[in-house]
Amino acid sequence: MKIRRDDIVVAVSGRQAVKDKSGKPITGKVLRVFPDRGTALVEGFNLVKRHLRKGPKTPQGGIVEKEAPLRLCKLMLYCPECKKGVRAVIRRSAEGRVRACRRCGHAFDAS
Ligand SMILES: [Zn+2]
Repeated sequence: MKIRRDDIVVAVSGRQAVKDKSGKPITGKVLRVFPDRGTALVEGFNLVKRHLRKGPKTPQGGIVEKEAPLRLCKLMLYCPECKKGVRAVIRRSAEGRVRACRRCGHAFDAS
């Protein structure tokens, strides 16, 4: 499992695979990973509208936007040095196994 909670990721295909005006890919933070389903929730990605029923908490009812899970294969780790989504390789180091950027060697798990 190369993507974990709190990772910063970009989407490689689908609605979220867009760039902003400066050409920078849109990044999001992983909120939750569902390993058995192979999906993850990413902050601000794949928003779907939920229609709320009128109830004690929401007397008006209404529409809220909520994240829907995305397939992990559509996400890539975002490397702050390459400024793009990259593939990670597992390296062994003094701290154990760490994930590193395949292109520049940036360590994602350095703390
Ligand atoms: Zn990199």
